[in-house]
Amino acid sequence: MVSRKIKFLIPKDRAELVPIFLTLFLICLYATFELSVILPTIYHNVFTYKEIFHLLFGCYIIFNLIGNLYICMITDTSVDTIICPVQLPSATIIGKTQPDHLYYYCNWHYCHQCEVNVPPRSQHCFICRKCILKHDHHCTFLGRCIGYRNIRYYMCFLAWVWIGLVYCNILHMDYTYELVGTLSWRVMIACLFPLGAWLFGLINHFSLFLSTICSTSIILNLYVLFLILQQLFLIINSQTWHEYKKNIHIYNLGKDFQSKLQGVFGRKWYLILFSPLIKSSPMGDGMVFDTNMIETRDIQHTDTKRI
Ligand SMILES: [Zn+2]
Ligand SMILES: [Zn+2]
Repeated sequence: MVSRKIKFLIPKDRAELVPIFLTLFLICLYATFELSVILPTIYHNVFTYKEIFHLLFGCYIIFNLIGNLYICMITDTSVDTIICPVQLPSATIIGKTQPDHLYYYCNWHYCHQCEVNVPPRSQHCFICRKCILKHDHHCTFLGRCIGYRNIRYYMCFLAWVWIGLVYCNILHMDYTYELVGTLSWRVMIACLFPLGAWLFGLINHFSLFLSTICSTSIILNLYVLFLILQQLFLIINSQTWHEYKKNIHIYNLGKDFQSKLQGVFGRKWYLILFSPLIKSSPMGDGMVFDTNMIETRDIQHTDTKRI
């Protein structure tokens, strides 16, 4: 069981170990820096209730970050987790009036790489070498696909990265104020162009390191916020990233936002952010999805087993 989980942790494409290690390195760097440099400087190494609160909240952020990342990575989101029918089920989406890619993608279809019949919204990932249930996208930073079973952990991971970075930035501000006392043009240049400020001798080595951490945390913060908003946009439209690119809208039934959140994150959608250990499975089975199209059977496209 343990070796199976380790196997899942290692991406199929070994080159993707680099961004994974970079992600883990940045998490460790920020956590160590905040806990060992920033907090002791702000509170002058005196244990106060405020510092204990910061320490506990910091540990809670790390717990959620690592917990969601770990479960996102070990979750098998491929079609291996379901029983694929030997006979290709009849098509339920109109074939003649719709583009071929919509017909193919939105009905049960045969994957020539996996050599099985796979459900609607499944997509073969050529990096993971598997068909993924309700495939969203392949995340290069985590080295795996995001789909039906692990999108909850992916979103919570992103949310906690964002919360962690906002929190770091607030602490940095306190630290900078503690260090320089006031906001001068020198501090602003150091924060915006740390390398340039260091080259022109405006700041020393430690300040370069500090400014680099401050500026990268702001840039990462904006990037992660963009990813979160992108995913929320897709949830509102009941689309995966793949469907957005292909302009497929047939799964948008016009339900309210809460129902859409339930569909992706499960009945306890409002609790999942608090802990990765809270059980809340996405609605359905990852194989059957309601559509806003009239159910029909297209005889021309009804196929049989091709194994
Ligand atoms: Zn496949
Ligand atoms: Zn993949």
